[in-house]
Amino acid sequence: MFSKILIANRGEIALRVLRACAEMGIATVAVHSTADAEAMHVRLADESMCIGPAAARDSYLNMPAILSAALITGAEAIHPGYGFLSENADFAEMVEAHGLTFIGPTAAQIRTMGDKITAKSTMAALGVPLVPGSAGEVPDLAAAIEVAEAIRYPVLIKAAAGGGGRGMKVAHDAAGLEEAFSLARAEAAAAFGNNAVYIEKYLDRPRHVELQVLGDHFGTVVHLGERDCSLQRRHQKLLEEAGSPGITAEERTALGHIATQALEKFGYRNAGTLEFLYQDGQFAFIEMNTRLQVEHPVSEMVSGIDLVREQIRIAYGERLGYTQDDIHLSGHAIECRITAEDPETFAPSPGLVSMYHAPGGLGVRIDSALYAGYRVPPHYDSLIAKLVVYGRNRPEAIARMRRALDEFVVAGVKTTLPLHRRIMQDPKFIEGDYDIHWLERFVAADHG
Ligand code: ADP
Repeated sequence: MFSKILIANRGEIALRVLRACAEMGIATVAVHSTADAEAMHVRLADESMCIGPAAARDSYLNMPAILSAALITGAEAIHPGYGFLSENADFAEMVEAHGLTFIGPTAAQIRTMGDKITAKSTMAALGVPLVPGSAGEVPDLAAAIEVAEAIRYPVLIKAAAGGGGRGMKVAHDAAGLEEAFSLARAEAAAAFGNNAVYIEKYLDRPRHVELQVLGDHFGTVVHLGERDCSLQRRHQKLLEEAGSPGITAEERTALGHIATQALEKFGYRNAGTLEFLYQDGQFAFIEMNTRLQVEHPVSEMVSGIDLVREQIRIAYGERLGYTQDDIHLSGHAIECRITAEDPETFAPSPGLVSMYHAPGGLGVRIDSALYAGYRVPPHYDSLIAKLVVYGRNRPEAIARMRRALDEFVVAGVKTTLPLHRRIMQDPKFIEGDYDIHWLERFVAADHG
């Protein structure tokens, strides 16, 4: 096994990786920006190194600085966490070129799935159903009109290099298409340096259902069931559950079969997530993430499998050592993403955390790098804690989440804790009767 791993990330996910390493007897190297010198991941790692100033492009995205830190400290592998360099094929290549291991898939696999147009055509060729849409890039307005008329309005224009819900525009008719098309292209160019766009049918009430997979170097791919991530605001997830209250065990098995067969043919290795929209009994693939996801803990809770440990074992070249039949999913897990934001306007609220009290007890898990006296920096993502609960069934998990949310105290910065407390009381949520548009209406209704 590796004896030392560098963690190229910060915040809760750096801690998450560090914890897996500690349990495996692997030494850890934390890297940090000047703004994060006092951060928990720096304190808990065996060694740490400053890699640059606060701005992420100069530190957590600074490939030469991170690589130098790995070489100087003698780390043998780099775990990228999520975000930052986790889906950067050039970085993966650079790491491997220096004789180190990138804990993730091959650079080629990252490239294929990183371009959503290539990802969709690859998955379609492997027998995975897609959301109806353009066959590939839509080069101009005339082509966009042709596609939209064929699949019928409303349509969604999406960026090939998209992520984080950016570069997506809905068009309800031909008049709206012209504006949406040019806006989406401009936003894609500005955000990703790539203005390629494609078109999908805009589904009116889908659920976002995604499948967690694990593949090793020997062609074995298994899945750990699905997560429902339909509770979103501006296409960003706020709360996730495993399993989905909207699909049946038979549907899960069927989807798992299609997905694992496709990825076995593809030769996928590492943890990964296939994202689908689910409506009217149909699953349609939208994208694949070739990394650990923010919401991975809910899958860990229902499967008992430590996904980071598996990523490290796979990267080292070990066999998974089990098959689909050995994976038993039980109970229900919910994750609330707690951010340092105003719970009504969602304006970021960085600053000093004057008091911090985390909930505990049976079935409660907190993934957070927060502590009293910590100053939430304004430079990064506003996620400050993931509160995850496990119950033997969904009602038990909801009751536990309510109780844990009530115990949770974070003072000094505004947080989304009040919003999560309200969601847990809502009859529609309790019934599991929601789609990807539900939360926007829930938040808007509360404002009015
Ligand atoms: P990103 O990579 O930017 O997160 P995704 O393709 O994963 O983009 O989509 C993000 C979210 O946008 C989905 O979870 C869903 O809520 C919404 N979405 C994406 N495609 C469609 C579609 N064809 N119809 C309706 N909603 C969609």
